[in-house]
Amino acid sequence: MKTKEDFPEINARRPDGLKPEGTPYRVLIVDDSMFVAKQLNQILTSEGYQVVATAGDGLEGYEKYKELFPNVDVVTMDITMPKMDGLTALQKIMEFDKNAKVIMISALGKQDLVKQALVAGAKNYIVKPLDRKKVLERFLSVVSK
Ligand SMILES: [Mg+2]
Repeated sequence: MKTKEDFPEINARRPDGLKPEGTPYRVLIVDDSMFVAKQLNQILTSEGYQVVATAGDGLEGYEKYKELFPNVDVVTMDITMPKMDGLTALQKIMEFDKNAKVIMISALGKQDLVKQALVAGAKNYIVKPLDRKKVLERFLSVVSK
């Protein structure tokens, strides 16, 4: 009977969430929806990414980014949140670290805010409801740049 070892190429694919040297990309999730944060967490960790922290509003997200810096590789940033919205938090993060890699998480119909976020330095965006394949595609394009 054939075993996994007979098909080494199947296991050879490196998960997207691992850096070339083998350690995971570290992600900060900023979202006021626990449901969305949990979905992102599941999708990302299933592909080898490491979620290092979650924040429930823009202000907490900005503060966690500063606290964890430089040990965060990617941030997911919801747009509509209490205390500080995602666009403002993005701007503050970019002021603090012009090399920050932030992916906006947007509800449908927020094209204007998404455009402003891209101008302000966001690297990409994902529209809800979240699709696993799309989330991983957008992440891969951001981390591989
Ligand atoms: Mg929200």
